[in-house]
Order: sequence, then C-alpha cells, then structure tokens
Amino acid sequence: MGKNCFISGISGQDGAYLAKLLLEKGNKVIGGVRRTASGSLWRLDELGIKDDVEIVNFELAELTNIFRTIEKISIDELYNLASQSFVSSSFETPLMTTDITGVGALRILESIREINSDIKFYQASSSEMFGTTKTDQQNENTNFHPRSPYAVAKLLSHWATINYRESYGIFAVSGILFNHESPLRGEEFVTRKITLSLARIKYGHQEVLELGNIDVMRDWGFAGDYVKGIWQMMQEKTPDDYVLASGVNYSIREFVEKAGTHYGFNIVWEGAGIEEKGIDKVSNKVIVSINQKFYRPADVHNLLGDSTKAREKLGWKPTISFDELVAMMAEADMKRIEKYMKLL
Ligand code: GDP
Repeated sequence: MGKNCFISGISGQDGAYLAKLLLEKGNKVIGGVRRTASGSLWRLDELGIKDDVEIVNFELAELTNIFRTIEKISIDELYNLASQSFVSSSFETPLMTTDITGVGALRILESIREINSDIKFYQASSSEMFGTTKTDQQNENTNFHPRSPYAVAKLLSHWATINYRESYGIFAVSGILFNHESPLRGEEFVTRKITLSLARIKYGHQEVLELGNIDVMRDWGFAGDYVKGIWQMMQEKTPDDYVLASGVNYSIREFVEKAGTHYGFNIVWEGAGIEEKGIDKVSNKVIVSINQKFYRPADVHNLLGDSTKAREKLGWKPTISFDELVAMMAEADMKRIEKYMKLL
C-alpha cells in the first residue's frame, strides 16, 4: 500500500529524483520548500512530476512551522534533504549553516518525538564529515574530521539522528552519501559548473572556465542511484546508518579533461599552481584557468568511500560509471545550450 512520504528540500537534485522514485513505488509525495525556493521547481518539471506532488511551505529555521506541518499532514516517512548544502558558502555563513543544516534536523526530530514517534526519519548526511580523516577509504566506522562549517553542521544532524534512535526508539537513519551528481546538479557544484561552462565555451557564450584546486579527489556517483539507496535504507526492518559511494575516485582535473572530450576539446595543461592553464589543443585557446577565489580556507583533498555494508545488507550498488556520468551531464548541458540558442 502506498505511504505518505514527506521530502524536505524537494526542490533540490536529490529531492527531485527521490520524489520520482517514491511516486513510481505508488506513494503519495508531499514536498517541503522554503518560501524563497518555491519558485525553483524546475527539476520536478524536467522529471515530469511537478503536478504529481503536493508542495507545502517548510522552514527549517522555524520550529513552530515544522511542528504545525508535521501535526497537520499524515506522514509515514520523512526524508530530510533540506540544508544549506554548499560547502564554500558555509565559510561565509557558518551560523546560518549550523542553524539550517544542523539544528534544522533537530527541530524535525523534536517534532516527530512530540507528535508521532512512528514517523520514519531519514537524515541526509555527507562524506564531507570525514574531512581529513587518515584512512585511505571511508566507511561507517571511520573517524570524522570535518573541515568546513557545513561538515560540522552535518555532524550535528548525523549524531542527533543516532541519538533520537537510541533514546526514543525512533526509526531514524543516517545515509552518509559521497558526492552524487546529475544533469540536475546545482550550478555552484564543481561538476555542473564544468559541464555547463564547457558547453557555453563551445558555443561562444563564455571564454574561460575558472576553477580553484583541481587536484582534489572526489568519489562521484549518479544521484539517481543514490536516492534508490536512501529509499532502501528506509524499508529495512531496523534503522541503521549506511555509506553510499562508488568506490572509485577522480580529480577535478580528470573530470575537466573527460568532459572536454564530449565537446570536441583536447585539453592539455601548462604551468603550475595558480598560473596553470588548460589549453584546448584543437583551437590552441586557453579555456581553463585557476582563480584563487575558488580555493577554500580548508578543503577536503581526498574522499573515497567504502559502501560494503550497503552493498551486502541492502543489495545496493551504483549502476552508472564515472564515464557514463560525465557523458550524461555533458550531453544534457549541450542540449540546454542548443535549446537556449534556438530561442535567441
Ligand atoms: P563538495 O565536495 O560538496 O564541496 O562539492 P563541490 O562540487 O562544491 O566541490 C568539490 C571539490 O572541488 C572541492 O574540494 C572544491 O575545492 C573543488 N573545486 C575546485 N574548483 C572549484 C570551483 O570552481 N567550484 C567548486 N564548487 N568547487 C571547486
């Protein structure tokens, strides 16, 4: 029988893919959005499900708003995907990030505890929490060493989730997801910034792609695969925490090179550090440069996930490889630019 599923942050990448999956499973989907974000439901539109979900105003900073929403709507499963999710901005807004990304989850948990402790709760935790941990590969038992206000806030919500499970018996799970991307990724994240910028450069709408540290390594998967894992965690008999990751990592540099081939570029690198340039050998033009402004006060240099537990207990595994992911994103941005050009 279908359930009533509530997604906070339905306007984001994961919210949109999860909503689609939950609808396909025969559930009713109610999406919470910030008043200021409610205009941006383009992702639901792209997936063709905008009219199939109910949208309500949901403010993570406002306990009474959360309380009233959970009291009013009958909810079986609540997925907390909302957050101030951009690591770089969190250095400029550490308090707001802690309030939304950290305390926000606690407000939902308190409301569930007070109103209906049978509501199942999913917390979107992040591989950023591992930060500069010493292990080569990270799993559920790895120590955390957060490197940004965002990661510190995510640790608050992660531990609050575990604490409410242990203290009050709430079905609360924390999914520690490594970077997961898609054509619906926000333009401020590096993968989407790369594919969109290269598409613009290809068609003469932009000269150069400016990046920060391109030697950082990330474990990237496809968001569509990861929301399936989220759903699977919530269907288990007992609540637990799981890492979802591809188990393979690449540098930003490799992402740029790979994405470039989809636009017919052959990018080679010259110079070092802040002076480094990416030159397209086909046109002999500089199309990538480094700008100090995109470096972070502290960064996470190497992430590589070990999702053995999810693979063994949930039977979860990613279906899209790195190459397929880059191709999918490059293709989508190429189509978007071509469509935009037709409108000019
Ligand atoms: P994150 O892992 O959640 O922070 O995801 P992002 O896509 O925002 O960043 C991934 C990595 O790319 C970080 O280590 C950044 O320092 C690095 N990076 C290098 N240049 C850029 C850039 O121009 N924009 C962003 N967002 N990240 C960059």
